[in-house]
Amino acid sequence: IAGEEIADAVAVVRRLNADGVMATLDVLGEDITRRDEAESSKVFIMDVLDTILREKLDSNVSVKLTQLGLKLDRDFCLSLMKDIAGKARDLGNFIRIDMEDSSVTGDTITVYRKLREHYPNVGIVLQAYLRRTAADSEALVREGLGNLRLCKGIYIEPEEIAFKVKSEINFHFLKTLEQMIRDGAYVGIATHDSELVEGAYRLISRYGLRKDRYEFQMLLGVRPELRSEILRAGHRVRVYVPFGKQWYRYSIRRFKENPQIAGNVLKALFSRHRFN
Ligand code: FAD
Repeated sequence: IAGEEIADAVAVVRRLNADGVMATLDVLGEDITRRDEAESSKVFIMDVLDTILREKLDSNVSVKLTQLGLKLDRDFCLSLMKDIAGKARDLGNFIRIDMEDSSVTGDTITVYRKLREHYPNVGIVLQAYLRRTAADSEALVREGLGNLRLCKGIYIEPEEIAFKVKSEINFHFLKTLEQMIRDGAYVGIATHDSELVEGAYRLISRYGLRKDRYEFQMLLGVRPELRSEILRAGHRVRVYVPFGKQWYRYSIRRFKENPQIAGNVLKALFSRHRFN
């Protein structure tokens, strides 16, 4: 993660922007249990939008709906999101709704649909490991709501609803990506998997996709050498920059996914050049 304070995140985004990389800032936090916590998250996220403008950063913002009370009351969450999306629209910015575990997939998509009735500057994430994603993606693009980040998915889900084998997940990732591109969605291709990056290159060239219709997306600190390769090949790249005091759950998910990250944490602790 970038650090605990907004100033840490600003410094990281500035460095990324100087290297020709866009960012999406994520204020860490999820699964709040009280309304006032959700309200505070809203205020903080709106401050981040102001900071991006003031500091002239090339960055949008990613949010998790459970950080904004989705599990307490969906309409309450929607009303907070309307304030955030309205502010982002007024400032010429964009909000990406992260996708969380399958207990909230349906509600997250419902909130997205309702927001898009008034705010075109909002997009959502779909997870290639979920069996329902092909249908969700087709429906959203058909409805004109195709501003989508596609990722594999990071939560542990049961086999009845999710593909479990890497080859199956990769197959569905590329199949869904092709449908998104063919049907005219704007896509954020979020992966560090070289096989998927190569597959995406092939689809981009087969469909003659314009550069302003897609972007590659990667997590801060993961495979920076691949990021440079993608940039050198002439594609746009956006890096997901999480920051804030609530870093524990985000870090534990990443750690479970990839124990090698422990090495990165140690390196980060002892190196002066902490971010790449
Ligand atoms: P993998 O096969 O998992 O990884 C490919 C290679 O990348 C690995 O071999 C390893 O070398 C490296 N690598 C991958 N992850 C790490 C890591 N954490 N530390 C060190 N090395 C690593 N998931 C969601 O469920 N919801 C979201 O909203 C969401 N948003 C995301 C946004 C972005 C920009 C990105 C890049 C990912 C997001 N994810 C999200 C996570 C995603 O679902 C995957 O869990 C994650 O990207 C790993 O999958 P992969 O495609 O990189 O392939």
